[in-house]
Amino acid sequence: GSVATVTQRNPLFSTINDNDITHFKEILGEKNVVQDEERLLDANTDWMRKYKGSSKLLLQPRSNEQVSQILKYCNSRSLAVVPQGGNTGLVGGSVPVFDEVIINMGSMNNIISFDKVSGILVCEAGCILENLISFLDNQGFIMPIDLGAKGSCQIGGNVSTNAGGLHFVRYGSLHGNVLGLEAVLANGTVLDMLGTLRKDNTGYDLKHLFIGSEGSLGIITKVSILTPPKMSSVNIAFLACKDYFSCQNLLLEAKRKLGEILSAFEFLDSNSMDLVLDHLEGVRNPLPPSMHNFYVLIETTGSDESHDKEKLEAFLLRSMEGGLISDGVLAQDINQALSFWRIREGVSEAIMKAGAVYKYDLSLPVEKMYDLVEEMRIRLGHAVKVVGFGHLGDEMKMLQVLAQIEPFVYEWTSKHRGSISAEHGLGLMKANKIHYSKSPESVNLMASIKKLLDPNGILNPYKVLPQSLTA
Ligand code: FAD
Repeated sequence: GSVATVTQRNPLFSTINDNDITHFKEILGEKNVVQDEERLLDANTDWMRKYKGSSKLLLQPRSNEQVSQILKYCNSRSLAVVPQGGNTGLVGGSVPVFDEVIINMGSMNNIISFDKVSGILVCEAGCILENLISFLDNQGFIMPIDLGAKGSCQIGGNVSTNAGGLHFVRYGSLHGNVLGLEAVLANGTVLDMLGTLRKDNTGYDLKHLFIGSEGSLGIITKVSILTPPKMSSVNIAFLACKDYFSCQNLLLEAKRKLGEILSAFEFLDSNSMDLVLDHLEGVRNPLPPSMHNFYVLIETTGSDESHDKEKLEAFLLRSMEGGLISDGVLAQDINQALSFWRIREGVSEAIMKAGAVYKYDLSLPVEKMYDLVEEMRIRLGHAVKVVGFGHLGDEMKMLQVLAQIEPFVYEWTSKHRGSISAEHGLGLMKANKIHYSKSPESVNLMASIKKLLDPNGILNPYKVLPQSLTA
């Protein structure tokens, strides 16, 4: 598998010694220098249990000053580090490959300010996404990002991976919503880019370098983010479509007819549905059993209950008459709404329970998306289950495959001008695959930027860029 792409530890990195431990204890205090084996085992292992490092040390800084002191020291000693948020990343980026020091951001979890007039939230990077969502809910606002891992992932991790998620179709990318950042560079410099302005065209917008850089250019310590107001009326429909072409046309129609109230458009195929039903307790298909090939979850969010419902119902009726949907149900209460989301959000979990997983988070032009799933089915035959699901609304899909399929998927995606990583990043899994999505000139410039910001290559080594360019 992909884990084998890295073959050797960079010999230029030092190994932790007693003096280092003493020094870290001086900076952080005894209890924030973790050597406990059980905690380390967790922190060394990724969410999918596919990647496992052998770090002997985890540090828990509580301020940007402490992050700065840690990095300055590690840089001078050539000690490699892995920044770690909630460790929910899916490309092996958040765990060490060898013995890198883990810098866990979970203790930096303070909300710094929230301005109700502008909707701008400023917080530390270790805030758990779900906590921010609850905090904002009380203020009448929402986060512009939401994803299945919200109970564990941190805003710093979301920004570092430029996570997309369920609201992408409505609120767009974090490149648009993040207004400012504070980051610490490898040499300990604290870079204050924590602006809260929506308009600021004074030179290069450096924060964008850190959004999606997966901990390879610096450690993000604070985030300022624009949050939309919470709307009072939310409606959710669970629909069935006979073929992929109908799902695609349904998306087009939804964008046209539901317009500004469309807040999620998610799809899963019947194989994904079967896995959820087989492996997750208490989940049932809200539609009567029938030969549905595809399911679509549509969410609308707006400010006028009766207007929104009317709009959605009219849309569903037209789509039913036009043959775009073959069946459908509208959630009658919050519990039913949650049960619809449980199906879609449960796909990742169900797949994990089903067996060995090969998961590819690819982005392709919408009309090409499902072709790849179908080609893979032919290629892999019946012994392997190939499932397709994802956020159709933002031209993204994930493909889960239980077999050895590289480099075919990457070549296919590249040929159709897709992206080999829609939203999860490159991490360790795809560091050597970057050329499928980026030109050699772009990759070389990225490597130069990495060298400039992190000359000793201590920040999240072996990830994002091919080792040949960074070691
Ligand atoms: P981690 O996993 O800890 O780290 C991810 C990367 O960011 C690593 O390279 C790490 O080194 C770096 N990093 C973390 N914190 C910092 C920091 N403060 N400074 C610098 N670098 C840092 N992703 C999507 O885009 N859309 C989805 O819909 C989606 N759904 C998911 C559903 C499930 C069930 C799961 C398990 C994952 C899902 N993901 C999704 C993956 C997604 O990338 C992560 O959930 C999330 O963005 C990572 O946050 P984290 O705090 O867990 O970061």
